Amino acid sequence: MYTMSIAGEQVGGSDEVPVVNPATQEQFATMPDCSELQLEQAMTSARDAQTGWAAEGDDLRRELMHKCAATMDANTEELARILTSEQGKPMMEARWEVEAAAFHLRYFADLDFPKPEVIADDEQARVEVFHRPLGVVAAITPWNFPIALAIWKIAPSIRAGNTVVLKPSPFTPLATLRLGELFQESLPPGVLNVITGTETLGARMTSHAIPSKISFTGSVATGKKVAASAAANLTGATLELGGNDAAIVLDDIDLSAIATDLFWATFFNNGQACSAVKRLFVPEKLHDDFVDAWVAIAAETPVGEGTDESVQLGPVNNANQYDRVRKLITDAVAHGGRAIAPQDQEHEVGYYIPPTIVTGVSEGVALVDEEQFGPVLPILPYSSVDEALSRANATTYGLGGSVWTADPERGAALAARLESGTSWVNTHSQAPPFQPFGGWKWSGLGIENGHWGLGEMTAFKVIHTKKSSTDTEWRPA
Ligand code: NAD
Repeated sequence: MYTMSIAGEQVGGSDEVPVVNPATQEQFATMPDCSELQLEQAMTSARDAQTGWAAEGDDLRRELMHKCAATMDANTEELARILTSEQGKPMMEARWEVEAAAFHLRYFADLDFPKPEVIADDEQARVEVFHRPLGVVAAITPWNFPIALAIWKIAPSIRAGNTVVLKPSPFTPLATLRLGELFQESLPPGVLNVITGTETLGARMTSHAIPSKISFTGSVATGKKVAASAAANLTGATLELGGNDAAIVLDDIDLSAIATDLFWATFFNNGQACSAVKRLFVPEKLHDDFVDAWVAIAAETPVGEGTDESVQLGPVNNANQYDRVRKLITDAVAHGGRAIAPQDQEHEVGYYIPPTIVTGVSEGVALVDEEQFGPVLPILPYSSVDEALSRANATTYGLGGSVWTADPERGAALAARLESGTSWVNTHSQAPPFQPFGGWKWSGLGIENGHWGLGEMTAFKVIHTKKSSTDTEWRPA
């Protein structure tokens, strides 16, 4: 029985909503449906706990965050097993997600908090700038990395002295509910509330008057709704949204040296990653070699139920996403594309789509123009690097991008011209906790991670003390 964490208590909801295992398509558990009253209780308890939490002092917050990380270590296997059951990812990757999240939590516990800065101190005035907590953070996560992305939000929020009301996706609520329950052992009541519910719960959170900040990760379409909803109360929002990342391969590369890395930069988590490679630009003369290399890797990649330790790719997470990815493939073929899936054997049950490569398509086809968020990749030949760059940038997305080359300097010069929050050279998707992460264009607003991400969970506070009777006039116009 999975319960919500509200005001330090473990509670059921007004109803129980089924949760499906994508490998079996069976309803294997339920999540609580948060009532209107419970949402109020979660928000109020977060608000009431916040002043005390901020006053506790930074050392205690750091200590308790380390305690939470140790709890994650002690429960990695259980959390990973729940994650695999609800998300579909292989156990190996589920364990990695929990471990990476604990590492992330420790990073934020150890990070130096921005110190007060004296920006003027002369005979006329002393001016100091402080970072203060914002208040309550409403955090909303998607279904691809439920635990990791929850920690990306919890860690900087609570370190800065805020309290949190967190809502995972209804497709993957369980590991987050369990995480919330485990963290109650260390955190004071109300500091972290975890609630679950059907689709309207997110909108009720973002239009709520209590949060001072919304930290949202999800699709562009929902992100725009969140921004509109936040406007009603002028609530600040960090939005980490979708991507349609291009990888541009230059003609100097040694294909055998990069093929495996590039394959996994695409199909990691079944392509269900915001900054996975989603369009692959290769020089015309290397196109056929690329297709051959990728088909060979795809043919040998074990696909199946994540609880089987030999599996490297599980099912797609849910029926909607399965239908969407299948439709994108069918549509690409209808537009003259060739879909190559070297192991397209049927599974009797489960939302399985084997790693698929599509050739013979270009811009104007949905698979190229939209975010597929699944295990299918269009391979796009180009004739000049400038052409590849301009096609890579011709999108409303701007999350990530990469350049693959034997010449890192040439790669970095081209990476600088990619219109994306992060551009990698000879790798993709790397997002260590110390590195700022955020999207340009429709891929998001604001930044997570590093001291920049911690800063986003704080408000500037200026104290200007007059010292002289002959004060300089600096009043705003
Ligand atoms: P989604 O937008 O459908 O849902 C995300 C979350 O928002 C879920 O918890 C959902 O219940 C909630 N939600 C739904 N409607 C809402 C509303 N009106 N108001 C508030 N919340 C609402 O996204 P998804 O399908 O769960 O996740 C996939 C998307 O997330 C992809 O586009 C992917 O690229 C993106 N993503 C981005 C990042 C990043 O850091 N930029 C990371 C992971 C995933």
